[in-house]
Amino acid sequence: PLQPSADAQFGARHIAKGVGRLTNHVLKRGQGSWIFTDQNVKLLDFTTGIGVVGLGHCHPKVTAAAQEQLGNLVHAQINIGHSEAYIALLRALLPKLALAHPSLDSVFLWNSGAEAVEAAIKLARGCTGKQNVVVMQGSYHGRTLQTAGMTKSKTVYSATFHPVPPGIYTTAFPYYAQHGLPPSTPESTLVSASLHQLNLVLSQQTSPRDTAAIILEPVLGEGGYVPAPASFLQGLRKICDQHDILLICDEVQSGSGRTGKWWSCQYANVRPDILIFAKGIANGLPLSGIASRKELTDKQAPGSMGGTYAGNAVACAAAQAVIKTFDEERVLDNVAERSAELFEFLHNLRKTEAGSLIEDVRGLGLMVGVQFVLPSTLRQQQAAERGAGKKGQAPVLNDASQNTAASAAAAAHAASKDGEEDAKHSPWEVGIAPRMQVA
Ligand code: PMP
Repeated sequence: PLQPSADAQFGARHIAKGVGRLTNHVLKRGQGSWIFTDQNVKLLDFTTGIGVVGLGHCHPKVTAAAQEQLGNLVHAQINIGHSEAYIALLRALLPKLALAHPSLDSVFLWNSGAEAVEAAIKLARGCTGKQNVVVMQGSYHGRTLQTAGMTKSKTVYSATFHPVPPGIYTTAFPYYAQHGLPPSTPESTLVSASLHQLNLVLSQQTSPRDTAAIILEPVLGEGGYVPAPASFLQGLRKICDQHDILLICDEVQSGSGRTGKWWSCQYANVRPDILIFAKGIANGLPLSGIASRKELTDKQAPGSMGGTYAGNAVACAAAQAVIKTFDEERVLDNVAERSAELFEFLHNLRKTEAGSLIEDVRGLGLMVGVQFVLPSTLRQQQAAERGAGKKGQAPVLNDASQNTAASAAAAAHAASKDGEEDAKHSPWEVGIAPRMQVA
């Protein structure tokens, strides 16, 4: 491990501790899948800026579009007038939103994922006249006060600043670990247990008469990289229709092509009432948004939505270039091909000795999680091996059972040519701190 550079030390001293960081690297330059530190260390960036730079760092077409826009118009506040870039983006984006459902043709652009989630909640409350929202256990929706209250993946996101806003109820996601069941549990069991749980929430905690929306990540991200089975999404749609509740898909992480379709809800063929996007849509420039039916957005009072930088012109130009590049370079086909390759590799890895640390491999497209054996199980195995006079080889992973994004990096690293040498060091030296998780 390198000594932190002077800049890294300066940052550690002056950046608020609440930010938290996985590494000490000061990053200087990115190109494609690679990122370079101020100490000229070249790293394969498995994090992609946490699911953001899907086209790679500094994709030339996106950079060129942003640069051109910088020379034309940087800022046109959306409550004052439309920027040309905003309108051009809408023209490119609407056909992609129509893939989730043609009714999703009324859009509001924001800056970050959390802001877009807040906008979705405001819309759901405003147009249903109801207040409560149901979220999934294990969900991640952001770190603003409202979204911290809706985030159920870890207590760190709300600990010490309660109370979070009221009216948020939690139900189970069909992930076996949430039900205390083994990985081999049939999908149908998990789906019926989760829908049963939701019906209990709606009959015992928040009446459908008070419930504006149910929100979920169609692929649970930080909570374990778990794709929702199609039958779960279809079941939610049915319950929502039955009770006049809106279904919101938070596609901040699972959208923008990451799973091999533009939106992961397409896999279930389920129509969201509100779809939320961010992250990959502008390949690194801050842009997010919500899409819904005009009939719903028309209920909003003009002026109730907006913000100084919302739908910034440079970010819109970048997003338009992202969409164009996806079409021109057939990126979705590439996601499908690379995904098949990655799953084959990981499934083969599981059959090797190093791969015995892997408990589960799952995901959709290139949103892939690798779940490692629980550390306590590992320690028991190692103790047993020591007892039997064998040399324990497995690195002890700290709290790694849900460290899924990190795990893919570790798995690939451990399987590299130098794998044997690497195995002597902790695989976490690739830059992942064990107690932190990528959101
Ligand atoms: N929703 C989901 C599903 C996310 O993964 C994230 C970010 N990890 C957010 C919302 C919040 O986005 P942001 O960090 O841009 O506020």
